[in-house]
Amino acid sequence: MTPAAGGGPRLRRLPCRVAPVPDETLESYLCRLAVGNHLARDLLVEHLSTTGRRGRRRLHLIPLQALAAVTGFTETRLAHALPEVRQHEPHLRTRTLIGRVLPVHPNQQRPWCRRCAAGRGITGPVTIWARCDYAVCLRHRLWVGRGVHHGDDQLGIADFPDITHAQVRLRRLIRRHGYPRVRHHFLNAYDIQHELSRNPFAMTPANDRLRRLHAREHTQFLPWAYVYAAQFPEVVTVLAVISSPFWRRAAISLDGAERERFFDEMSRRTEPHPVGHTRALHSWIYHQRRPPLPDDPDGERLLRPRYIGATGVIPPPEPSAEARAADHARQ
Ligand SMILES: [Zn+2]
Repeated sequence: MTPAAGGGPRLRRLPCRVAPVPDETLESYLCRLAVGNHLARDLLVEHLSTTGRRGRRRLHLIPLQALAAVTGFTETRLAHALPEVRQHEPHLRTRTLIGRVLPVHPNQQRPWCRRCAAGRGITGPVTIWARCDYAVCLRHRLWVGRGVHHGDDQLGIADFPDITHAQVRLRRLIRRHGYPRVRHHFLNAYDIQHELSRNPFAMTPANDRLRRLHAREHTQFLPWAYVYAAQFPEVVTVLAVISSPFWRRAAISLDGAERERFFDEMSRRTEPHPVGHTRALHSWIYHQRRPPLPDDPDGERLLRPRYIGATGVIPPPEPSAEARAADHARQ
């Protein structure tokens, strides 16, 4: 028995212990907690909330102490697992949570890998807050990324090692350039790649994978998750170029020879179906250009707050004034 927040009624620990999974949405966790203990979800939320107001959007009114009391898990453990808790209890954030998701755009609510769930003995749906790089479960060779809205949308890709390897390359890219920067350009890379493959008769690697998927599934119509999965290897290749500070600088250069070097590099990496002077790529370059400033000729310093600000993950601590000065001196 543990006292509830604000001196409210004491809350009894529920008989069945239900552990949250990493980055699980609060709604998903409460539903599983209710089902595991043979309770109605609304009744459980009402029991935990601080007010008597009705409605489904009351999750933020559940005190963390109350949740800890009924689940039997510590507040820190819950903050490590549940993004909504991290958001409202910033004092529980630790260094180990840097880079982990917050329950905000651009993260998406998406089903957790159904085989990871089954491995924990979970039979019902589990929804998590997913970063853009939650695309492939490497352990189970399952596409869990864009286009997946239900567990059934997750497609097996064991027979597509290039898709699995693309996930490894994406992680490498994030280690190299940092998640904020890679995320900022992620959808641009899909747009640039999609322009090549939107003609279903184009002989691109993505369309070839789609044809194999059609044959495998014995159907003419496949959900969008299949299309995004089929495009993924080339998307990561494009992303590797446009998220590179060096190649971005070349792309927006006022020097024509530098710009051609950028296009040559993009074509070389995307052989045998090179991304050349496409509309989507020129659009990306156009939107990257900024009026040059004397101390920021390529707009990198101007962009940094945008990379960090719209990331949807817990940022590292603000650098000290000395570190900022040293960083500025290096550029
Ligand atoms: Zn998995």
